[in-house]
Amino acid sequence: MAVPISTAAGLDAAAIRADFPVLAEQVHGRPLVYLDNAATSQKPRAVIDALQTYYETYNANIHRGLHALSERATAEYEDARARVARFINAAHSHEVIFTRGTTEAINLVARGWGDEHVGEGDEILLTEMEHHSNLVPWQMLAQRRGASLRYIPMDAEGRIDLEAYARMFGPQTRLVTVTQMSNVLGTITPAAEIVQIAHVHGVPVLLDAAQSIPHVPVNVQELGADFVAFSGHKMLGPTGIGVLYGRESFLDAMEPLFGGGSMIRVVQLHQSSWTELPYKLEGGTPNIAGAIGLGAAVDYLQAVGMPNVTAHELELTEYALALLSDVDGVRVFGPPDATDRGGVISFYVGDVHPHDVGTLLDAEGIAVRAGHHCAQPLMRKLGVAATARASLYLYNTAAEVDCLAAGVARAMAFFA
Ligand code: PMP
Repeated sequence: MAVPISTAAGLDAAAIRADFPVLAEQVHGRPLVYLDNAATSQKPRAVIDALQTYYETYNANIHRGLHALSERATAEYEDARARVARFINAAHSHEVIFTRGTTEAINLVARGWGDEHVGEGDEILLTEMEHHSNLVPWQMLAQRRGASLRYIPMDAEGRIDLEAYARMFGPQTRLVTVTQMSNVLGTITPAAEIVQIAHVHGVPVLLDAAQSIPHVPVNVQELGADFVAFSGHKMLGPTGIGVLYGRESFLDAMEPLFGGGSMIRVVQLHQSSWTELPYKLEGGTPNIAGAIGLGAAVDYLQAVGMPNVTAHELELTEYALALLSDVDGVRVFGPPDATDRGGVISFYVGDVHPHDVGTLLDAEGIAVRAGHHCAQPLMRKLGVAATARASLYLYNTAAEVDCLAAGVARAMAFFA
C-alpha cells in the first residue's frame, strides 16, 4: 500500500490526492471539485486494490470452508474486524459487528435491543438534528412498544442544552440516541458529557458516528458509549459495509435481527440456539469484500493520522466559513466558530433555491448536495425546505474552497 505523506505540520493534500484516481476526473470539461463528502467519500487506490485482490486471488465464502481460499478470506475478514476495533479502541474485536451501514446498525439496535428493553410508557431521548436513520427506527420502535420520543432542547446551531438534558431523565428513560456530528450543521455534540449524564441515571447511549468517525479521532472506551454506529463509505471504504460497535454486555443482551446461516449454534425443527458474538448478529454471508476494503480504508486513515485529518479540515472549514460569509446574501447554518464543528457547511444563497445553486456549481465541476439531507425536522426548525451543502475531507484544498466561494458568488449574481 502506498503510504500517504503527512508531516508534523499537517498532511500533504497534494500527495494524498494522487492516491484517489477519481479526483483526476473532469466534469463538464472542468477539473472535479468534490465537496460532497458527507454523502459519500472517494476511495484511495489502496481500497480499490484490496477489493480487486480479494476478487482476483482469494474470493471464497468465509467461516465454513476448509480449503485454502476460504481460510485466507476468513483471516482477512477477521483481520479487518480487528483493525476497525483498534481504530475506535474497542476493548474486543467481537464488539465490532459488520452491517450494511449506519442505518442497518441503528435498526439492529432498535429491533434487537429495543424490542427487549423498551416497553409501554418508556422514553427515548434524541435531538431534532438527527439524520432520519437515527429517528425513524426509534419512531417505529415507539409505535411497536407504546413508548415515546422526547427531544433534547438545542439551539438553531445544534448546540445542546446540557442542563435541560440532565433534567429530562426519569424512571422510564430507556435510551439516549444522538449524533456525534450533524450532517447538516456540522455541529460536534458533547458526546462524552452526554454519555456521562446518561450513565448517572443508568441509561445507555447510542452515538450516530456516521459523520464523526471519518473526520475526528474517536475512542469508544474513553467516550463510554454503549452503542456506536458508522458507515464505511463515508470513511474512504466501500458502500454496503458499516459497523455497529456495542459493549459486550449490551450485544450479549440483544436478539439477532437476521436468522439464518452462521448465527446459530444448534438448529432443531422447532427452535434454535444462537452462537457467540460477533457471529450471532451477522446472519448470512456478509459483505466480505466490503469488510476487507474497510480494513484498507482504516489503514489509510491511520497512516495519515486522524489528528492530521481533523487539523486539515479545521483549517479548510475556517477558510470556507470566512469566504462564504463574505459573499453578500449568503447565509451559513451551524456554529460560526469552526472549532465547534466539522467540515459540513450548509448554506443558503439569497433566495435562490438550493437545487439551482447545486446545478450552477455542477456546471463548473463543483459537486455539492442540495436538499433536506435526510433531516426534515431540522429543516423545519431552520425554517427552510432545503439547503445547499458543501462537505470537506482530507483531500480537499484551499484552492477548491476558492472555487466554491467564487461559484457561490456567481450564483448570487446570476439570480440577482
Ligand atoms: N447518520 C448520519 C449523521 C449520516 O450523515 C448518515 C448518512 N448521510 C447516516 C446516518 C446514514 O448512513 P447510511 O446511509 O450509510 O446508512
